[in-house]
Amino acid sequence: MQNAFTVDVEDYFQVSAFEAVVDRDQWVRFPSRVEDNTGRVLDLLDRHGTKATFFVLGWVAERQPQLVREIDRRGHDVACHGYSHRLIYNQTPAEFADETRRAKDVLEQLVGRPVRGYRAASYSITRRSLWALDTLIELGFAYDSSIFPVRHDRYGIPGAPRFPHVIERGAGRSIVEFPVSTLNLGAYRLPVGGGGYFRIFPYWLSAGAIAYLNRRERQPAMFYMHPWEIDPLQPRIAASLLSRFRHYYHLDKCELRLERLLAGARFTNVDAVLADYGQRQPLERMRYDDSGISLVAPVPLAVA
Ligand SMILES: [Zn+2]
Repeated sequence: MQNAFTVDVEDYFQVSAFEAVVDRDQWVRFPSRVEDNTGRVLDLLDRHGTKATFFVLGWVAERQPQLVREIDRRGHDVACHGYSHRLIYNQTPAEFADETRRAKDVLEQLVGRPVRGYRAASYSITRRSLWALDTLIELGFAYDSSIFPVRHDRYGIPGAPRFPHVIERGAGRSIVEFPVSTLNLGAYRLPVGGGGYFRIFPYWLSAGAIAYLNRRERQPAMFYMHPWEIDPLQPRIAASLLSRFRHYYHLDKCELRLERLLAGARFTNVDAVLADYGQRQPLERMRYDDSGISLVAPVPLAVA
């Protein structure tokens, strides 16, 4: 079973946890570490012969185009992490369309082919911002990975499907959704697909969860990380206790854990996982609208 390995390419000062204390117009003042850190992620992946999908922030791509070209040159997929890292539900649909188009354009010019995948800042497609799916479809994205099917203070649609599926938005419009991995523990849904959860929970929990998904549920995992998560020497930012905990906990342990993870399970880019998945079973089609999420009944075959 192949799992998806994804990297959200952004700098340590651009994260949503620090949004309240770091203004966007101050970003240029911070020493950038994203290129060096992403280089270390690329080396890590090379050591394990693993291909991955990199969701790159448009703001970073405009300032460090050589970084995007290097990700592409080393055989990985370049996808889109939006432009400004603003949470979608804090934007108007017009603002979101403008900045997403800008990010997609700059990335496509750098890699010379269509960018197929999108992931929102802090998984900010929620019940309040389902309209963003229509924008992604209009801009030509083939898949999205922005809906976290958990309960959280900043993101999540609790109860949303846990595995790859097709989102239908009416009028024949649809997009594939590949959510970050979770486990169902009774009534509780546990996020196990990377990021802070990978650093904060013990290693065996993440590794065991991916093995469980693959062997028992027969499903691929979706794993994500950020380049700043393997950088314990990054400058410290004074933020709330909760934000500092989420951002800084176990930064010194993360790279070693990733080595173990990549040695123990098979990972590749999102497109390869979806192609393999689609060959084994047709994707479930789910209708997302203001009344909720519902399974679209398969169209019965006409009997000749
Ligand atoms: Zn991000």
